Amino acid sequence: MQHPIFTEDHDLIRRQLRRFVDEEVRPHGPKWEEAGFVPRAVLRQMGGLGFFSLRVPEALGGAGLDARASVVLAEEVGRSTHGGFAITVLVHTDMASPHLVRFGTKRQLEKYLPGVLAGETITAVGVTEPAAGSDVAGIRTRAVRDGGDYVLNGTKMFITNGVHGDLYFIAARSDPEAKGSRADKTGWRSSDTAELIFEDCRVPAENVLGEPNRGFYSIMANFQTERLVIGAMAMAEAREALRLTFEHVSARTAFGKPLWDKQAIRQRLSRRLAEVEAARQLVHHTAWLDAQGTDCVAQVSMVKALAGDLVNQVLYDCVQFHGGMGFVRETAIERMARDARVQSIGGGASEVMLEEVAKRFGAALAD
Ligand SMILES: Cc1cc2nc3c(=O)[nH]c(=O)nc-3n(C[C@H](O)[C@H](O)[C@H](O)COP(=O)(O)OP(=O)(O)OC[C@H]3O[C@@H](n4cnc5c(N)ncnc54)[C@H](O)[C@@H]3O)c2cc1C
Repeated sequence: MQHPIFTEDHDLIRRQLRRFVDEEVRPHGPKWEEAGFVPRAVLRQMGGLGFFSLRVPEALGGAGLDARASVVLAEEVGRSTHGGFAITVLVHTDMASPHLVRFGTKRQLEKYLPGVLAGETITAVGVTEPAAGSDVAGIRTRAVRDGGDYVLNGTKMFITNGVHGDLYFIAARSDPEAKGSRADKTGWRSSDTAELIFEDCRVPAENVLGEPNRGFYSIMANFQTERLVIGAMAMAEAREALRLTFEHVSARTAFGKPLWDKQAIRQRLSRRLAEVEAARQLVHHTAWLDAQGTDCVAQVSMVKALAGDLVNQVLYDCVQFHGGMGFVRETAIERMARDARVQSIGGGASEVMLEEVAKRFGAALAD
């Protein structure tokens, strides 16, 4: 039966991604967690298979698909159980490179886009600073014009792909030599995260993306895609965690019977599955609204707040029902619980998302 929101093309992409994740990611992901980054060869392979071109217009060499394709990608990489891998990919495809695709000049597109789509040029986006995270308008990094260049001074924090990336989209006030020092994180261990310090870093004026002094609006516009894919990824992780836990409690015996026979356990997991399915439907519906060109800031904000919190609640229960094994390093559930923690913080903390919902509260109830 055809899904009402996703088409056969989406199904095909999903199957290709699933095969790639099962064959190329799951077996090797633990090594990447140790190394602290995803090997470039894997990203090149993904580029070669067209996974980095899904949202890029056909005129620019992409597949020209809408937000539903981003959700399919986010769900399938999220299902890998390796949040670090998933976020490496999604920052590149849906959080950083869209700035080039949307605002790049012909020259910038010709110079950078082929490498971006092929997985040769990995992208990062630098908005957050030590003193400005949730409050994006508070950034202090400055870009001052000096002849044919801009001179950049400032510090960016928590920049995904910041160590191993090649092309950085840096938000600065305008009235790379920088390679970052790595952040040692609780989770997302195979995603490299950097602090970038710019000291009199000269950037040719031709590298300015979009209109000077309008960057804030460009960043805000892409937050919608960013938050939707984080929500999709989170719910795929939660589903996979429930699947692994169902397998575990079905096989594991205590007091003479499988754990699944305990009503308290199977009801808690069933409740979580119901919540995850509801949130997942909201993700799909929101992707569909976006694909229709409908304003869906309220729904995207709901998705991010709901999914970011829910994936943590689900992983808490999944660890609980794995018993001691859920606390042992490098079981998938232990890793997934660590990875989940950032989902209610990064890309817009739950409280900040709920403020966005609150601003639209009456309108959201109007239909
Ligand atoms: C692993 C990781 C990867 C990241 N990748 C990137 C990246 O690639 N690029 C990038 O630019 N940024 C990135 N970030 C930054 C991320 O988006 C910020 O951490 C996030 O926006 C929160 O900002 P902050 O950490 O400064 O927290 P703060 O702004 O200091 O907020 C702290 C907490 O206060 C609460 N809070 C904040 N505002 C409100 C409010 N209005 N009402 C009620 N409570 C509130 C929330 O609980 C929030 O978690 C990443 C972060 C992490 C941890």
